[in-house]
Amino acid sequence: MNNWQSQQQLKQQLSRIDGRGYKAYKDIAGKYRFDDFDLFIDYVQGDPFASPSRLRVRVSQQIAGYPTTLFNHNSRRIGLEAYIAAAFAQACQTAAGRNGSGKSGLIAIDRPGQELIERTAVHINTDFVEARFVVGLPARGRSVMGRAAAKMLCEDLPKLVNAALIYANGRPEVMRRFAETNEDADTLRQALQEQNLVAFVADDSILPRRSGIDNRPLKGDNVVQFSSPESLRVSFELPNRGRVSGMGIPAGVTLIVGGGFHGKSTLLNALERGIYNHRPGDGRDLVVSDPTAVKIRAEDGRSVVGVNISPFINNLPHGRNTQNFSSENASGSTSQAANIVEALELGSQLLLIDEDTAATNFMIRDQRMQALIAKDKEPITPFIDKVRQLYDEHGVSTILVIGGSGDYFEVADHVIALDSYHVHDVTSEAKEIAAQHGRPRTSEGGQSFGQITARIPTPKSLDPRKGRRDTNVKSRGVDGLQFGEEHIDLWSVSQLVDESQTRAIGAALVYALDNHFDGRRSLAEALDLTMQDIANKGLDVLDRRYVGDLAAFRPFELGAAVNRYRPLRLR
Ligand code: ADP
Ligand code: MG
Repeated sequence: MNNWQSQQQLKQQLSRIDGRGYKAYKDIAGKYRFDDFDLFIDYVQGDPFASPSRLRVRVSQQIAGYPTTLFNHNSRRIGLEAYIAAAFAQACQTAAGRNGSGKSGLIAIDRPGQELIERTAVHINTDFVEARFVVGLPARGRSVMGRAAAKMLCEDLPKLVNAALIYANGRPEVMRRFAETNEDADTLRQALQEQNLVAFVADDSILPRRSGIDNRPLKGDNVVQFSSPESLRVSFELPNRGRVSGMGIPAGVTLIVGGGFHGKSTLLNALERGIYNHRPGDGRDLVVSDPTAVKIRAEDGRSVVGVNISPFINNLPHGRNTQNFSSENASGSTSQAANIVEALELGSQLLLIDEDTAATNFMIRDQRMQALIAKDKEPITPFIDKVRQLYDEHGVSTILVIGGSGDYFEVADHVIALDSYHVHDVTSEAKEIAAQHGRPRTSEGGQSFGQITARIPTPKSLDPRKGRRDTNVKSRGVDGLQFGEEHIDLWSVSQLVDESQTRAIGAALVYALDNHFDGRRSLAEALDLTMQDIANKGLDVLDRRYVGDLAAFRPFELGAAVNRYRPLRLR
């Protein structure tokens, strides 16, 4: 297992086990020197129907030949790695010939989507480029097809490596764009704060997507490219693209208003994804937001464990405690309050809220309702009375889509309107209207926002075991995570975009449990230490088996999984 073998030896072994039971494949685990690369067979599946085998190839830079300028900066490297993973995925489609039982003939790599997220699928450095992928070792029924496997690994794979991992065989112009687009977006996001902005949308961006399930840019004559209103136009100097201009959304409270179907949610969705970089040509490659932006929504039915929602909710019937609020089945408004407080606990500086997915009674309480239902009969302090305190006392900005309530004009710093997908700055009109109508409602927000209380998870309550298995942790699509006996529902965590992130979050929970949750550290501290380890040592710190299907995530999404884990208990 620790010795290098040759390509020839692999071929011989495969022909030796031809026709034998599938388990005989286990013998080929090991490392092999091919003419132009090294092959690592890290894990061999036990059955043609089981999870496929895990392999890596490593090509030295003497042979691969990537110019260091394409990866000598983290941002460039992540862009280039995404390009290589996409090229490898493409080549896999040509190489894979599915015949035989189960996953026979499969060859696949974790393919990047529109967002360019750091992944374990491809690694590049000054020594080598490495791709991690899976293979379905071919079988007829449950017996080894040795010759087919030899063709796959010893003939098709070298061709694939040659096509996808060698610089000279790639598309240098596209590679450069991946590296540069990623670097520009990172630069832009880092520059927001200097200009006191929380988000930026470049002129000419394309925000709408093809459909709810197709994240690629909408195409056709009806697409309206983004154009900033003059009053909000700012510009930045980027390392590759040079000077770009667009709409800067200043820190503070910003409303997005406009008629139904005029593009409000599309703009907010773009901002929500602005925590990620995008592939060149995505249309949102120069749309960035504060890296701590969290989309907030109502999520009735979720579990809430020990969250201090008292800034928003007080005096519940039966004297239920809201400083330490738990529910197996939170309402729309309490779930939205918990989502906000949890984001604040982890240090979010920007909240994004869309009326489409908010609880009305959490957002507003108008004059007539105040007249009918006295404040002491209403446990909810609406967001409208808290949004300014959040900014003034905690520096937390909010961008809010609200086509349905003009009461918000009063508390907003900026109001932008969408009219047939064109953006206008209507701040002064909105302020004028607010002034003309006087103060229709009474503010109910009290003296200050209130306490943001840290919570300390009890490590024992986070239990990854199931039956005889020490860790039973698995992603179930992007939106679900099996953790021990429990299913964690992440459907409402909309900034999670890729199952590889969910998988990594599962691994990170186990890692945090082993290393940082100690019953004394707060959730924020333990997650912070976990994120630091990943930043210092890479995503591989989460799984020492060189897996190729993990992708980077933020503490907010990791925290979202902890917060939705029903058996969670606190000290
Ligand atoms: P709202 O939230 O204001 O009701 P949406 O953002 O949901 O509106 O947009 C309504 C429709 O218009 C969606 O189908 C969306 O894809 C499309 N759309 C949004 N922005 C644009 C644009 N700039 N160009 C063309 N179509 C767009
Ligand atoms: Mg909408």
